[in-house]
Amino acid sequence: MAIVPLDKMKNFIDISQAAEILLKKSEKEITFNVNLKTGKDKIIFCDAFLVYHNVVLGPAKGGIRISSDVSLEETRKLAEIMTYKNALAGLPFGGGKSGIKVNIENIDEFTRVALIKEFVHMIREELISGSYIPAPDLGSGPEDMAVIYGETHIPESVTGKPVRIGGLPGRKEATGRSVAKSTLLASEKILKKKISSCKVAIQGFGNVGRNTAIFLTEMGARIVAISDKYGGVFNNKGLDLKSLLNYAPTKYQSVAGFPEGENIKNEELLNLDVDILIPAAIGGVINESNAASVKAKIIIEGANDPITEKGDEILEKKGIEVLPDILCNSGGVIASYIEWRNAKSGNQTDKEEVYEMIDRKIEQCFNNILRIKKELKTSFRISATFLSLNELIEAMKERRWL
Ligand code: NAD
Repeated sequence: MAIVPLDKMKNFIDISQAAEILLKKSEKEITFNVNLKTGKDKIIFCDAFLVYHNVVLGPAKGGIRISSDVSLEETRKLAEIMTYKNALAGLPFGGGKSGIKVNIENIDEFTRVALIKEFVHMIREELISGSYIPAPDLGSGPEDMAVIYGETHIPESVTGKPVRIGGLPGRKEATGRSVAKSTLLASEKILKKKISSCKVAIQGFGNVGRNTAIFLTEMGARIVAISDKYGGVFNNKGLDLKSLLNYAPTKYQSVAGFPEGENIKNEELLNLDVDILIPAAIGGVINESNAASVKAKIIIEGANDPITEKGDEILEKKGIEVLPDILCNSGGVIASYIEWRNAKSGNQTDKEEVYEMIDRKIEQCFNNILRIKKELKTSFRISATFLSLNELIEAMKERRWL
């Protein structure tokens, strides 16, 4: 439950019936097929989805999820999260998301290129007009964004491109950067501890997980456990990240079997006795069945929507604080905004400036959320949703939607 349901938010903010209708339903949903003939009698059929949740603040911005279980419902939920994430960060973007339902791990490189081209072909108008601006998400990466750019020939039509062709230095690391910065702020301002005396566990060693681990290690944190889809590794003295990165150099290699630690199951990582737990893999991993066993003092949501509504209630009762995804992983879309702006203006920004801008935005948002939390005496998630909702409602009034 990345965002608190509107019914509950009515206890904190005035939401008119019209605003509720505009925020509850997606503005536009497109379902289509990406079909590809790959050989004699061989055709790949994929369901695909594009959702615009609410675009009052600007064009729909959100990544492309490529996975065998992505659905319209999931794409809808992720687009909604983007609406609130963009609003919280003060970006001129609405919330969008797209999905291609296919097991991408089973597809060779040439077929993958053809698949992405077909995806562009099917939603060409949305991309060319700048109404939907994609970026990488689970299952997609900069190479796929390069293919999209190759089809549209419009640099600002897609972000998360490789640096050489108009991508932004630091974009790849940006989400991990904001997760790490959020973790640092949480340790200092919530736990009142130095990051160097915090034990951290991270689920996921893909783009977000590994970059978060790299930045946190630089900041001096002790990362005691990391897991991925295939298993995990634990070392109470702290994992040697350099060695782990050599063992699993890309997101396609697993940390399972890493010899410099104890092997653990992926699910066990969620119940470890650590200061900070960072789910940075997939949605719904902390839920009714396991939330009661969580021992961490604080959870930093690196993934989108990693905690279910029931899981969230259990954690709240246990007094475990949760910093929500719409704050923590917003570094990706903040960097995408810089890339989009540069594509329009011809400006260039170096990595250090990008990190600085992400750090600054995250700190501002964190402080705003903390202020509202104190005023309303409530959770971080309600406070973050409150700030986003306020922006969205005011913008809808300004655009005479309300
Ligand atoms: P990725 O594909 O690069 O990596 C995913 C990682 O999760 C891999 O290590 C994989 O093994 C692991 N994983 C998959 N299923 C798992 C399971 N059942 N249990 C444990 N681990 C599992 O994806 P990513 O880009 O790192 O995205 C991770 C999360 O962060 C997603 O929720 C995504 O929506 C969110 N996110 C990503 C970005 C971005 O810029 N990449 C931005 C914002 C949010």
